[in-house]
Amino acid sequence: MIEMHWDEAVCCHAGVCVESLPQVFKIEDGQFRIDPHAASADRIREVVSQCPSGALSIEEK
Ligand code: SF4
Repeated sequence: MIEMHWDEAVCCHAGVCVESLPQVFKIEDGQFRIDPHAASADRIREVVSQCPSGALSIEEK
């Protein structure tokens, strides 16, 4: 199981995560939300590795 962390202060809002995996990374009511159960852990790891700012991190549980 994985747990996701997002550092708002680091995020440069490039939108890579939201565009690559919209079922996991979404903006709802103006808030950034992450649903770590909406895709495979491998796919999420792949998108996190593409985050240009390093704002996203994964904790393996
Ligand atoms: S990919 Fe990274 S920098 Fe871009 S919006 Fe997502 S968290 Fe922010």
